[in-house]
Amino acid sequence: MPRKCRPVHLSDPFPAPEPEPVAGCDVCAALAEQRAVARAIGDKATVIDRNVEMRRHSHVRKAKT
Ligand SMILES: [Zn+2]
Repeated sequence: MPRKCRPVHLSDPFPAPEPEPVAGCDVCAALAEQRAVARAIGDKATVIDRNVEMRRHSHVRKAKT
């Protein structure tokens, strides 16, 4: 899925801490991988985008027995 225009948070005075992928979450794993690839090629916009997605998607808590 190619993304065209994404808002860039230029107003941020400092970079927000990056979200950590949640263990066992396929979405987090995929986003973390894409983020790593984006960072490797210097695509900061995509790195930010993946961080936002990682924060936004909801985790369905499974009852721990
Ligand atoms: Zn997740």
